[in-house]
Amino acid sequence: GEVDDPVVEESKPPPLAGANVMNIILVAAECAPWSKTGGLGDVAGALPKALARRGHRVMVVAPRYGNYAEPQDSGVRKMYKVDGQDVEVAYFQAYIDGVDFVFVDCHMFRHMENNIYGGNRMDILKRMVLFCKAAVEIPWYVPCGGVCYGDGNLVFIANDWHTALLPVYLRAYYRDNGLMTYTRSVLVIHNIAHQGRGPVDDFHYVHLPEHYVDFFKLYDPIGGDHFNIFAAGLKTADRVVTVSHGYARELKTAEGGWGLHHIINENDWKLRGIVNGIDTKDWNPQYDVHLTSDGYTNYSLETVQTGKAECKAALQKELGLPVREDVPVIGFIGRLDHQKGVDLIADAVPWMMGQDVQLIMLGTGRPDLEQMLRQFENQYHDKVRGWVGFSVKTAHRITAGADILLMPSRFEPCGLNQLYAMSYGTIPVVHAVGGLRDTVQPFDPYNESGLGWTFDSADANKLIHALGNCLLTYRQYKQSWEGLQRRGMMQDLSWDHAAQIYEEVLLAAKYQW
Ligand code: ADP
Repeated sequence: GEVDDPVVEESKPPPLAGANVMNIILVAAECAPWSKTGGLGDVAGALPKALARRGHRVMVVAPRYGNYAEPQDSGVRKMYKVDGQDVEVAYFQAYIDGVDFVFVDCHMFRHMENNIYGGNRMDILKRMVLFCKAAVEIPWYVPCGGVCYGDGNLVFIANDWHTALLPVYLRAYYRDNGLMTYTRSVLVIHNIAHQGRGPVDDFHYVHLPEHYVDFFKLYDPIGGDHFNIFAAGLKTADRVVTVSHGYARELKTAEGGWGLHHIINENDWKLRGIVNGIDTKDWNPQYDVHLTSDGYTNYSLETVQTGKAECKAALQKELGLPVREDVPVIGFIGRLDHQKGVDLIADAVPWMMGQDVQLIMLGTGRPDLEQMLRQFENQYHDKVRGWVGFSVKTAHRITAGADILLMPSRFEPCGLNQLYAMSYGTIPVVHAVGGLRDTVQPFDPYNESGLGWTFDSADANKLIHALGNCLLTYRQYKQSWEGLQRRGMMQDLSWDHAAQIYEEVLLAAKYQW
């Protein structure tokens, strides 16, 4: 029966690229495990490996923010002009899991590992100008395994506003001049809230022919005319991807498009939503390295009931909460800011504290919200833990030990924590937006279907209502609960599936379908 199926269905690999093998270069401002502030870093670290498994030749280009262990100096040096200055660039490289990782080294990036987007607007603009200028020429100048990628049969994947200049440079410097004729670009939107905005004068810093200014100029009822890098990238890329279907829809609305919705609507024909995968090596309860000590245990679909109970007891013990199997443990993990809806949880805390529950929150961010976490812990010491910090280990342990994961995000392009939760048999309760809505089908007690609970507006009462139903099922309908866990754990959330759809988009860009 289905109970006996393996946790991760890696037994049937998707069909490979075959005759459509391409050279693919993904360019991003962050790449896990070397650099990561959020979901973008995870994607840059994992998607390329999945594309390589399909048979493509794949490279990742990221800045070299620190002295990374594996990547070696390629010896190649190039000069690029940034704000009138010649800047020398070196390239470090490593071949890992079938992917060429190339790190752009220059003085502007050094010692920035904990401050990737730091500095003022001009500082970061100059870093990204340099990065995109260098990245677009890497297929010509940096040999990988002795051979350059070259510009035939090549597709670039740029990510967010930081690298949205790449499609523009590809067109203005090369395509317009009969070069890189067979090279295409795809731009991925991970978060539209950051766009590389500035005064129209910023155009002089990106070094483009005068008529290109129209790609960047955007009128906005509040700020008037301004300069917008994301806008130019969206117009010049051959295809655009965003990280879920729900977010693709929201980007076309005035509320969700953050001023770029007109451009996204005009370019709708080239937009596609593809839900992120998860790294099933890192985030797998069966192999999770953070569950091998301190009373935690690895578990799988077959052992989830006993395994999760052990992890829950270990988590309660580690955090000094009463060790009780029957009390539902509710978790939250994420950046403490307005986007993540932490304030909705705060509004629901008085209600929650009237219930027999435990609440464990992990996050960093806005100082007032950090303070709030600490205050809840002090005020309700027998029920609440508010861990202020960035701890990968604790994130894994909460994901395994909690029964329920709360994600009341106001907007969420894809969201990874709900995916991790489901693959650990932890039931998500989420605001039905963006990727959360795509990935958490609501529980239907009549058909015993669905994966969790959703609520349809960012409102504490809606959250309470959804969480209330979830707690009722936890307490009274054990069979239903185990069904939810089983369905969540049996999903194929690996990158292999997403990579296959990315490949379709890359091919559409290549052949201009
Ligand atoms: P976003 O990119 O908007 O921050 P995602 O859900 O896509 O949100 O990705 C966030 C990633 O960062 C996840 O891997 C999550 O586990 C991790 N994360 C967020 N906050 C913390 C924290 N305080 N400690 C450890 N990991 C965290």
